[in-house]
Amino acid sequence: MIQIILGDITKTRADAIVNAANTSLLGGGGVDGAIHREAGPELLAECRLLHGCRTGQAKLTKGYRLPAKYVIHTPGPVWNGGGRGEEELLKSCYESCLSLAAEHGCKTVAFPSISTGIYRFPLAEAARIAIGTIRAFLEAHPEMEVLMVCFDGATKKHYEEALKRAQAE
Ligand code: ADP
Repeated sequence: MIQIILGDITKTRADAIVNAANTSLLGGGGVDGAIHREAGPELLAECRLLHGCRTGQAKLTKGYRLPAKYVIHTPGPVWNGGGRGEEELLKSCYESCLSLAAEHGCKTVAFPSISTGIYRFPLAEAARIAIGTIRAFLEAHPEMEVLMVCFDGATKKHYEEALKRAQAE
């Protein structure tokens, strides 16, 4: 099942929350900064041991002071006009995170809107890719529940629209 909610992912109770990280995994702005602030310094200490992560891939840490058990860090693609593999890379972010969550026995996974903040991925496109990828994964993992945690109303509207369209197909 996919649920789209308005909220702050650092407050979300889920087995795993996803961090829209950068390739250094050493923290940044946006949701990344918020997750590190709430999780505390132990998160950065564990991230240092990971030696970064490639765009479109994912790495898992503990959640420390967060209500979530795990944080799955994935660097989304920076939008550069759409001709640099952005769609495939964004799809790969969602797939990598969901596979890693399943491997660790997570039943509930919460995502932020990867790449649509500082990385400027167009929201409608990002929502379509995210919803399509999550739905395909859940067909094979019906026991899992995915929350899309949107930080503002415009983002939530785009994800709701994408879900409606996908369900109507
Ligand atoms: P990126 O670099 O991948 O674009 P950003 O963190 O800049 O990542 O933005 C991704 C999305 O996360 C944006 O929609 C932004 O509004 C949202 N966001 C920022 N803080 C939070 C939060 N605490 N919880 C959920 N979403 C958040």
